[in-house]
Amino acid sequence: MNTDRSEEMFRIACQYMPGGVNSPVRAFKAVKGNPIFIKEARGSQVIDVDGNAYIDYVGSWGPLILGHSHPQVIEAICSMATKGTSFGAPYEAEIELASLISAAIPSIEMIRMVNSGTEAAMSAIRLARAYTGRDKIVKFEGCYHGHADSFLIKAGSGLLTSGVPTSPGVPARTAELTLIATYNDLQSVIDLFNEHGQEIAAVIIEPVAGNMGLVIPDSEFLHGLRQLTLKYGSLLIFDEVITGFRACYGGFQNIVAIKPDLTILGKIIGGGLPVGAYGGSREIMKQVAPQGDVYQAGTLSGNPLAMTAGVETLKILAENDWYDRLEVLTYYLIGKLKTVFENHGLYYEINRLASMFTVFFTEELVDNYTAVLNCDTEKYGAFHQALLNEGVYFPPAQFETCFLSCAHDMDDANKTIEAVNRALSIIQE
Ligand SMILES: *Cc1c(COP(=O)(O)O)cnc(C)c1O
Repeated sequence: MNTDRSEEMFRIACQYMPGGVNSPVRAFKAVKGNPIFIKEARGSQVIDVDGNAYIDYVGSWGPLILGHSHPQVIEAICSMATKGTSFGAPYEAEIELASLISAAIPSIEMIRMVNSGTEAAMSAIRLARAYTGRDKIVKFEGCYHGHADSFLIKAGSGLLTSGVPTSPGVPARTAELTLIATYNDLQSVIDLFNEHGQEIAAVIIEPVAGNMGLVIPDSEFLHGLRQLTLKYGSLLIFDEVITGFRACYGGFQNIVAIKPDLTILGKIIGGGLPVGAYGGSREIMKQVAPQGDVYQAGTLSGNPLAMTAGVETLKILAENDWYDRLEVLTYYLIGKLKTVFENHGLYYEINRLASMFTVFFTEELVDNYTAVLNCDTEKYGAFHQALLNEGVYFPPAQFETCFLSCAHDMDDANKTIEAVNRALSIIQE
C-alpha cells in the first residue's frame, strides 16, 4: 500500500500545527505510525489522498452513525446553507432538535446547545456547582469528559483523596476540587462521600465508558451512584456524548432506567457537524442565563447548519429499525472475530455493546482503568498497522472504541474478518 502523499502532507502539516494535527490522537503516536490524510468518505468507507480505500471503524470518533456523507443529511445541510450559515439569532431548527432530544430522553426537559462535548461538560459542572452551592466533583479514572481543566485530573497517590493534573497548565488548586473514583467500584465512591459528602456538587460519569476502550458498566454500580447522589444532595451527571443515540434511540439512561440530573450530549446529535449540549430538569436548567444567573454563551451555538444536520440524522434514525440491524451485524462481526483470535491462539478480550466494541490485547477481563492499562499497546500498534495495510481503519490507539454505522453491511463485516485474520498472522510472524 502506497501512502507517499499522506506522508508528505504530514511532514508539511507538522511545520504549521503542533504534531501536525488539530486533535492529538489523530497523529497515530499511540500506534507509532504515520497518519493517513483523508480525501473523501462515503458510507462505510474513507479514501485517503493516495487513493487507498478503508472500511472505517472510527466514524469520526462516534458521530457518524449513519455512515459518511449520508445523502439526506448532505442535502439538508446544502439546502440550509443556501439560506444562511449563521444568524446569531433564534432559528426554528433549534426548537426542532431540542424537542426531538427531549422526547427521546425524558430526563431532559430543557437543553442548551453548545459547540463541543468539552464545552457541554464544562458548562454542566458550572451549573451543578451553582445549583448545589458546592465545589467538588467526582470523576472516574479513565473516563473522558473533554479537556476542560476540571477533567484533566488523575488520582493522587497514597492517602491523598484529591486529584492531581494530567496536563501541565492545569492549576493544582483546580485539581484539588476533582476527586477520582474507580469505574465499576461503588465502594470507591462511597469512600469519597464518607469523607467529602457535603462538599460534592456532582458525580460525572460515562454510563458506558468509551474513552479507555469500551468498558461496560455494571448496572448495579450505576443504580448505586443514583442512590448515593440522592442521599447526599449531589447531582448525577451522565456524559452521553458517545452513548446518546448510539445504543438506542435515546440515551443509555433509557436502557438502564436511571434518571440523571444532567445529561451531556454531542457527537451523533450534531450529525457530523460540531455540536454539544447539556440538559436536565426544568428546575435545574432554568438557572442558566438568561433565565437564571449561571452564565454560559456562544457565538455559533445552535448554529443552523449543525442543528439541521442533527435534526435530519435523528429523523432518519427514528424512522427505521436501524438499532436492531446494527445489533445483528455487530453481533455477527464480533462472534467471528472471537473465533479468528482463538484460532490464532492469542490472548484477547473483546468488549462490545450495541454497535461499539474494543479489541484489547490482554489476558484478563477489562472492567476498569487498571485492567485497561495492563493491555499490550505495542501489540495493538502492530495490529493497527497491519489492519490498515489490509484496508481496515481501526482507531489509532488501544484505548478507543470502534463504531459500526448503518452504512456497514455483511460484505464489510466479512472483509474485516478476513483482514483481521491476515493481520494477526502478520503480527505473529
Ligand atoms: C468526545 C467526548 C467528549 C468531548 O467532546 P468534544 O466534542 O470532543 O469536545 C466528552 N465526553 C465524551 C464521553 C466523549 O466521548
